Amino acid sequence: MANRFVIIGGGPAGNQAATTAARLGAEVTLVERDVVGGAAHLWDCIPSKAMIATGGAMNDLRRAHGMGLRQVHADLDFDALRSRIAGIEQRLEASVTGLLANQGVRMLRGSGRLLDAHHVEVETVEGTTEHIEADFVVLATGSRPRIPEWAPIDGDRVLTTRDAYPPPTLPEHLVVIGSGVTGVEFVHMFSAFGCQVTLIVSRQQVLPQKDPEVAAVLEDDFLKRGVKLFKGARATAIEVSDGGVVVRCDDGRSAAGSHALLAIGSIPNSEGLGLENAGIELDGGYVVVDHNCRSSVPHIYAAGDLSGKLPLSSVASMQGRKIAEHAMGMHAGPHRHLDYDKAASAIFTDPEIADVGLAEADAFASGRKVRVTKVPFSASAKALINDDPRGFVKIVSDPATGVVLGGSIVGRHAAELISVIGLAVTAGLRVTDIVESLFVHPALAEALADAAE
Ligand SMILES: Cc1cc2nc3c(=O)[nH]c(=O)nc-3n(C[C@H](O)[C@H](O)[C@H](O)COP(=O)(O)OP(=O)(O)OC[C@H]3O[C@@H](n4cnc5c(N)ncnc54)[C@H](O)[C@@H]3O)c2cc1C
Repeated sequence: MANRFVIIGGGPAGNQAATTAARLGAEVTLVERDVVGGAAHLWDCIPSKAMIATGGAMNDLRRAHGMGLRQVHADLDFDALRSRIAGIEQRLEASVTGLLANQGVRMLRGSGRLLDAHHVEVETVEGTTEHIEADFVVLATGSRPRIPEWAPIDGDRVLTTRDAYPPPTLPEHLVVIGSGVTGVEFVHMFSAFGCQVTLIVSRQQVLPQKDPEVAAVLEDDFLKRGVKLFKGARATAIEVSDGGVVVRCDDGRSAAGSHALLAIGSIPNSEGLGLENAGIELDGGYVVVDHNCRSSVPHIYAAGDLSGKLPLSSVASMQGRKIAEHAMGMHAGPHRHLDYDKAASAIFTDPEIADVGLAEADAFASGRKVRVTKVPFSASAKALINDDPRGFVKIVSDPATGVVLGGSIVGRHAAELISVIGLAVTAGLRVTDIVESLFVHPALAEALADAAE
């Protein structure tokens, strides 16, 4: 059987599908219209975390007196930050391109669309048209910011997440609309840069999907930094003038600022892909997929944000890998499907927030009996050495078997530390496996063993 793959979209999902399929012996063409590495590298994960790292360095300097240093002052060099982000993106693009080339993947720069279930047409960036026959097609075109009709996005005063890394000028007062993961990360990074920030929160808590205890730690930090929270308010209009913006809310309040930034979710890039030519089923613009990421047409797969599953770069990569393995016949028998409930995720605020698996609140809501143990970082020697005892580790386990079901961490390096609980959840380890591991001392990870006790 021939194994010709055509992959449309070179983000984490498309890249991983391409390198895995090529490694397994397939003939692979990867079609990308913009930057290899995808939105993840260009606009989302990487630039956001690069800016947050700079903001984090500024916050650390503000706390320097706690480390026995005299007050240290830092000024943001916006141009230097801009070139730092561009430098990281270029290096990552070069590294992904190199990896694809090493595996023998054919890169085609242009826009791809399905002509029928086995043929892809590519309008190349050089202005030519190419037709490619495929045994397998992987659709991995990602998503883009959702823009409601009341938002006059201009990339200058009124921004989407794509205009903000970094924005044309440093906002004096930023009004962030949306208090999900992306919104709170923006609040953190711009307030760390010294900007005044107002956050429009449509519910009564930031991060409405998260554990209230976790959200409370973040809200407390925001209030200490002078961030204004408009709770229970939905933005309905943005007025722009020479001097700035005014965001009007449905409860009659309005927030004035120099800039507004919209972080209210994303929509899939499924238009113009010729999906109707192949009879692919959609739901709300997302490609409907089964547990192997197959669409309604079995040899056409969809991965990443387009699949409407968990919109995370890590999940997109894993889907890409699983698709290649499945198409190449590696999972003919029973195999472990991608379990989205076991994906670790993090919010890169200060303190960081990370969780994985079953949350205490969800266990409570479903009536499932669980054991919940919690240890504050104030009891950790390393947290005191770091002069940052904020936050806690919480582990959720099965009271009968001791199997680790989930956990959450709030605190410094939470995004790194959560991997230990993530591994335990994926591998079905018990709390005693964590307790009996010999962790480094002094280290923040010791708090995991204490919480598992
Ligand atoms: C602000 C922000 C921060 C984020 N931070 C994180 C984070 O820290 N960690 C994390 O895990 N996730 C994060 N995410 C989510 C993450 O960025 C996405 O889940 C991830 O990019 C999805 O990968 P993908 O491969 O599906 O799509 P993308 O990365 O969007 O790549 C899709 C690619 O397809 C190309 N394309 C589209 N249509 C065509 C076409 N017709 N022909 C050819 N090419 C095409 C696009 O140019 C693009 O390069 C963040 C998202 C946002 C908005």
